[in-house]
Amino acid sequence: MMKAALLYGPGDIRIETVKDPEIGPDDILVKVKACGICGSDLHVFKTAGLEALQNPIILGHEFSGEVASIGNKVQGLNVGDRVFGTGYRNCGTCLWCRQGQTFRCPNPTVPGEGLPGAFAEYVVVPNPMPGQMLFHMEEGMEWEEAAIIEPLAVAAHAVRRARLETKDKVVILGGGMIGLNILQLARAMGVSTVIVSEPSLLRRNTASKLGASHVANPTREYIAESVGTATGDEMADVVFECSGTSIALKQSPQLLRPYGRLIQVGMFEDEIKLEPEFMSLMFQFKNITWRGSGGQRWDMALEQLRTGQIRTRELITKRYGLDDIGKAMISQLDTELSIKVMIVFP
Ligand SMILES: [Zn+2]
Ligand SMILES: [Zn+2]
Repeated sequence: MMKAALLYGPGDIRIETVKDPEIGPDDILVKVKACGICGSDLHVFKTAGLEALQNPIILGHEFSGEVASIGNKVQGLNVGDRVFGTGYRNCGTCLWCRQGQTFRCPNPTVPGEGLPGAFAEYVVVPNPMPGQMLFHMEEGMEWEEAAIIEPLAVAAHAVRRARLETKDKVVILGGGMIGLNILQLARAMGVSTVIVSEPSLLRRNTASKLGASHVANPTREYIAESVGTATGDEMADVVFECSGTSIALKQSPQLLRPYGRLIQVGMFEDEIKLEPEFMSLMFQFKNITWRGSGGQRWDMALEQLRTGQIRTRELITKRYGLDDIGKAMISQLDTELSIKVMIVFP
């Protein structure tokens, strides 16, 4: 038997003892050592529907841990290996899977998003794909350090989706974990103008420390004006929308130059109503490309980490044991006090 955090409905998370997970031939079992709370975990924590009551959800996909057992078809891993990553199981039957392009599968499931996640003593990682979705920790790397690489990989994917270039002027709407990592990646690439718009003082201060050329408080300032001042009225080449709020989204076309790129990273919780003015400014007057970003670029994240230019550890603002996961969720919701909250295991 093991301890796990079960989500029964909005805000209703309970620690219970459940059966030890069983593994199939393509799976491994990982003894969890650290797991970060992601924006997408919070999203489910707040919005979990009625189904959760019948089938409580175990969240958590940003984890590191020790391999405890291995299915007989799995290669490249041993019991006792220190690993991090996100397990990923593609559907195996869609057009893309049948062609071997499993990364394009429209129905993948990962621990915490469709499969039981890592807010538990043990997590099953299906189809671990060592070196692609699951990685060995380097000598001397700590559990928390490893668990915090996933959001960097998400940010790396967004930077890739933007086809970011050094000469670009960048605006980041939302200075949470992903926004702050996009900032760091852009700075590491040599991008000099990076404006971060974020209501939380803690997150704005962190953005300044991490190299933002400008920070702005959207509750106090007219962001289009701040971006105009910062760019000599040329406006931004790229906006990364990382907040998932309609206010931020609707500002975006005003912040962009014609032919600019709007990269959608944040997840929305409320319905958004897009007025005709927004649509015509976006598409007719400014020829803006609005591009989605979901997924990870692990290779790029690991490469950037090795350069030593990226700071992730100091983004961890608080740590809790699994028993206190309810408190941890509340703490992660408070953007004035937290950036990344970690669940740590003995
Ligand atoms: Zn995540
Ligand atoms: Zn598929």
